[in-house]
Amino acid sequence: MRGLSEQAADVVIVGSGVAGLAAAVAAARGGRRVAIVTKAALASGSSPLAQGGLAAAVGADDAPSLHAADTERVGRGLCDHDVVRLVTESAPAEVARLLEAGARLDRDDMGELALGREGGHGRARIVHAGGDRTGAELVRALIEAARREPRIEVREGVFAAELLVGGDGGVGGVTVLEEHGPRPFYAGAVVLATGGAGQLYSRTTNPPEATGDGIAMAARAGALLADLEMVQFHPTALALAPKGSPLALLTEALRGAGATLVDRDGRRFLVGVHPDAELAPRDVVARELWRRAAGGESSFLDMRELTRAPGGLRARFPAAALACAGAGLDPAIELVPVTPAAHYFVGGVWTDAWGRTSLPGLYACGEVAATGAHGANRLASNSLLEALVFGRRVAESLALSALPARPVELDRAAREVAARIGARGPMRMDDAVADPLRDAGSQREPNARLRASRARLQDAMWRGAGVARTEEGLVEVLDELEALESLGLLVGATRSRAGRSSCELRNLIEVGRLVAAAALLRRESRGCHHRADHPEARPELSQRTRYRAAELLAEARRQADSARQRAVAVG
Ligand SMILES: Cc1cc2nc3c(=O)[nH]c(=O)nc-3n(C[C@H](O)[C@H](O)[C@H](O)COP(=O)(O)OP(=O)(O)OC[C@H]3O[C@@H](n4cnc5c(N)ncnc54)[C@H](O)[C@@H]3O)c2cc1C
Repeated sequence: MRGLSEQAADVVIVGSGVAGLAAAVAAARGGRRVAIVTKAALASGSSPLAQGGLAAAVGADDAPSLHAADTERVGRGLCDHDVVRLVTESAPAEVARLLEAGARLDRDDMGELALGREGGHGRARIVHAGGDRTGAELVRALIEAARREPRIEVREGVFAAELLVGGDGGVGGVTVLEEHGPRPFYAGAVVLATGGAGQLYSRTTNPPEATGDGIAMAARAGALLADLEMVQFHPTALALAPKGSPLALLTEALRGAGATLVDRDGRRFLVGVHPDAELAPRDVVARELWRRAAGGESSFLDMRELTRAPGGLRARFPAAALACAGAGLDPAIELVPVTPAAHYFVGGVWTDAWGRTSLPGLYACGEVAATGAHGANRLASNSLLEALVFGRRVAESLALSALPARPVELDRAAREVAARIGARGPMRMDDAVADPLRDAGSQREPNARLRASRARLQDAMWRGAGVARTEEGLVEVLDELEALESLGLLVGATRSRAGRSSCELRNLIEVGRLVAAAALLRRESRGCHHRADHPEARPELSQRTRYRAAELLAEARRQADSARQRAVAVG
């Protein structure tokens, strides 16, 4: 693995989470020259934060068909059967590959892989590492594997801003933001592995990198998107954190190990709500906590019993123990306040079973992709698995395709993109909105204004496109995001130079509008998409949605207009 020396590679992979790293290692082993471009450190994104583990039917009492059945049950009729079969059947082999790569997975007293159980799973099948530090260990092992591959080059701290699309609609590279300005980075194929978009919401477990960049880039390039209304909210994030900061996740495995959800008097409240109580599917648990919060009732995780096990909480759940300590809580004697938080982006860039998007030369894997593996909801611990399986599938597909030589017209596309995002000199965050803005009356410094706009977007999304949605709330979100877009803070809307933060804000606004639009159009409740004004699932809507951004927004605009007209008529 070397530092990037030239602006060309067979394949450029955007993102270095589990999906990007898995794709890079497999593609390099298949003979491709790979460049990884990642906007933060190599170990970044949600992957290093993953706690509970990776689902795989490796137990003596388990089988991929049982894993598939659980996945489809939670996916509420929207899973792609073939993809689910593919992913669940590949899982044991992925675990074997991780072991070969040197991943130190936890073992029981007999030396067998230790298997946890999480909500929605009918068997104990969660393979984990370091207790609840699975993601960090997987990323460590994959980075080590990548370091052994001379065909992989890495650029850390480099932001991919725009896809380069040739006249034939094929993707032949990305424009990246470098210290000295935007630069084309040409490649025979581009793999989006940019992760999710939890930063759309004021309460999220996702890291700051999760700004939906890959979805926004693909949307602007005209790629098909799918299932964007399906945003999974984790029911139990630690409720104590400064507003807008990522919330610490209190993994479901804690509940699998016996922690209970209780009111402030220590009474369990899920027992009468679902037969599986604390181990009910995430959407059921998240909705109950949301409903309680709307009624002014707090919810708590009771881990007191767990802390009495040998070694205490720290031995089995070090991340949870650390999070509680960081918040000044002692779970041995106190109830820990919890809240739902945006956690996983089920929808994204549509791909087929080989990770190919609708645009030639563009692939996607991991959380940015919508493969159909999760349907209307993700079964716990299926996402690391899907990221590994599809990272490898993309590489296999790349090994079989003839990568095109760079078409001449890409240079024109690159020049246009550079002109659009501003090519004048070094790009720093401070430059992003240095020019006079339309609302020139404001004296606030530009960075603060970007942050304020991001917070405004996150609040609007939490209120109107969060755990429970209504037509009225979603129309308000669409109006609010349109207003934010028109403020002129964004790249291309001012004459100023582009910076990463303004690009991210633009991406968040675009993806937020798409999520709200998709949620407006699905007039039913299914999986993690809950419409309080349409609380039942409608059998005639039991199919996935697939659209281009422009079509989706146009349809949502029509529906929003008719909703406004109805409201006026009633008023
Ligand atoms: C707290 C937490 C706990 C979780 N626990 C589990 C679990 O136990 N089991 C499970 O299966 N799943 C879990 N998940 C979900 C899982 O971690 C993610 O779905 C998965 O890691 C996504 O991997 P990825 O490679 O697709 O994306 P990520 O790991 O998010 O990586 C995205 C990468 O893209 C880069 N990037 C993004 N935009 C750009 C850009 N414009 N230019 C350049 N680089 C860019 C980022 O820097 C990062 O390197 C958890 C998630 C969180 C947040």
